[in-house]
Amino acid sequence: MSYRTWDMSRPITAKVSVRRRNVDHVSTNPLAGFLLPEGFAAPRTAAVLREGSAVVEIGRFALRAAGDRRVRRETPYAARAGSRLGDPVLLVPGFLAGDGSLALMARALRGQGFRTYRSHIHANVGCTLNAAAQLEARLESISIRRGTRVQVVGHSLGGMLARGVAVRRPDLVSNVVTLGSPMLAPGAHHRSLSASVEMLVRLSKAGVPGLMAEDCVAGACARQSFEECRAPLPAGIGFTAVYSRRDGIVDWRACIDPAAQQVEVTASHLGMAFDPRVIDRVGDNLLRTSSASAVEVDRGKSA
Ligand SMILES: [Zn+2]
Repeated sequence: MSYRTWDMSRPITAKVSVRRRNVDHVSTNPLAGFLLPEGFAAPRTAAVLREGSAVVEIGRFALRAAGDRRVRRETPYAARAGSRLGDPVLLVPGFLAGDGSLALMARALRGQGFRTYRSHIHANVGCTLNAAAQLEARLESISIRRGTRVQVVGHSLGGMLARGVAVRRPDLVSNVVTLGSPMLAPGAHHRSLSASVEMLVRLSKAGVPGLMAEDCVAGACARQSFEECRAPLPAGIGFTAVYSRRDGIVDWRACIDPAAQQVEVTASHLGMAFDPRVIDRVGDNLLRTSSASAVEVDRGKSA
């Protein structure tokens, strides 16, 4: 399938030109035009129905978890992966979600031997610049506690925040894995999300604190967040973008960041958080990066 990629050297313009047949309710999208560059489009209504496969994906997780428990019971204690693997892993939830949305993935990764941390984001509904600052503070505290850099797995908006912070703080981040993060066109999402954004902005205008304001979705704040998550990543940081053509929430083409190692999976947008096949790919990636930095840990400081 061919599509136009976003030219990183081109200045951001507010001009939006999308093919109508691919788009629902463009007029109700409260996000600034520059968040939906030419060539990207929100998934159609039919596409969002595919998100129903999340039920199958969660069933797959339950089956796998039951199998893992059986294997664990049958494995002698000494043979279990007791030591914590390499760099700690921080999981960052997507828009409207909290840490709970990644609890199953965290549990599975802990089962594989990783040390996982929550972002402390209870509901990702606030200003993205504030969320990025909160994430940076969290990374600082984990990094100080463990004496090493941190790997970050971010779902959707969480992945965009993670990439943005990694650009600013390469001293804190060793690896970024994004799951269905529409880095190239944050505005290319299904109208159900646009409606949620619109509601948050309205509530914010009405004086409810801690929510996305108009500036966060259509003003300077939106522009700064977008630019931060597209800035070149410093050397020495792993970056993998996981995407699925079955994504019913965001335009999968927008998830293919040219700076990342790209991994295609077959999952719904929501299912990427718990489908064991996706978790396996994430675990492999984290392990590879961990083994790379474990060599350095062995040479110097103790882990
Ligand atoms: Zn903001």
